[in-house]
Amino acid sequence: MAKLRLENVTKIYGKDIIGVKGISLDVSDGEFLVVVGPSGCGKSTLLRLIAGLEKPSEGKIFIDDILVNDMPPKDRNIAMVFQDYALYPHMRVKENIGFGLKMRQIPGSEIERKVAEIARILQIENLLERYPRELSGGQRQRVAVGRAIVREPKLFLFDEPLSNLDAKLREEMRTELLRLHDRLKATVVYVTHDQLEAMTMGTKIAILNKGELQQIGPPLILYNKPSNLFVASFIGTPTMNFINGYIENGKFVSNVLTFPVFTQQISEPTAVIAGIRPEDFIIESEGEYWGTVEIIEPLGSELFVYINVKNKSLIVRTKPNENIKKGARINFKIILEKVHLFNRDDGKRIN
Ligand code: ADP
Ligand code: MG
Repeated sequence: MAKLRLENVTKIYGKDIIGVKGISLDVSDGEFLVVVGPSGCGKSTLLRLIAGLEKPSEGKIFIDDILVNDMPPKDRNIAMVFQDYALYPHMRVKENIGFGLKMRQIPGSEIERKVAEIARILQIENLLERYPRELSGGQRQRVAVGRAIVREPKLFLFDEPLSNLDAKLREEMRTELLRLHDRLKATVVYVTHDQLEAMTMGTKIAILNKGELQQIGPPLILYNKPSNLFVASFIGTPTMNFINGYIENGKFVSNVLTFPVFTQQISEPTAVIAGIRPEDFIIESEGEYWGTVEIIEPLGSELFVYINVKNKSLIVRTKPNENIKKGARINFKIILEKVHLFNRDDGKRIN
């Protein structure tokens, strides 16, 4: 399989539309990199640059240490799976999967063998004689993946391949793709706008916003140490709670909550935003903070409670608890070591 390196890659469309800007990243052999970010942040542009469908305006792209900026797509040995699978409607499943091999003049018996093997891996052996219109969304998705892997490419690029599927099927396909990745030991760059997909699938996640890389790293590093406000608010559901305030005399001070902070090398007073994840509040009758229960969302295995504290609504994740009543006063604690602090001027993490 392959490794991939981007050095300061920028793509400007036309005069001044930023596709991506100054992206540097490494994907090692066999790694599953998920690129995530809101719509329009440059995810597809990034994949198209790697595939060779676009040329960078600046910067270098290496596959296996070979500079590929000027290498045509067909020589890069990359397979790309798109959101709309674009299967050939007039071909049966087996011809759809085998098409790439046929174009390369691989003998028919060899194609048949490979298609059968892929069909077994993807569990679509019973669908080989069907046409795309006779398949469900999930089945079409599998065929599209089959068509990509049959060529045994060095590198797989997926562009939001699951976003047309319903929630249940998406969950199934997610696991299936991970299994496939384990089995093929393939190097994958997988694009999604769904942070849950990113968290569950990636061995490494790259977060983009407005064409720029915000942070890259293992999912839990991004979750526990988001490097700026954008990453903090993008990763995690329900979203992190944010409270405007100041750091003064070793304390976070605000209209809502005030608590000691553990941070050095900061000039005081500094305007900051404190970020607290819903699970880093602990509901406890001896807790020193309190508010009023506004909304209760029972999810079965857990509970989301919206607590109004001095006119600010904080969302708290807790275990199912029948004693929590709407409209009642409730006390809670904060796990202080887990509090995130961001500079209000530039949004960067300061602890
Ligand atoms: P994403 O896939 O994250 O939604 P894209 O990579 O498609 O984002 O787009 C990034 C930015 O580049 C957007 O502002 C988009 O409008 C612009 N863009 C993408 N493709 C083109 C193109 N062919 N010509 C001009 N602008 C483009
Ligand atoms: Mg896109």
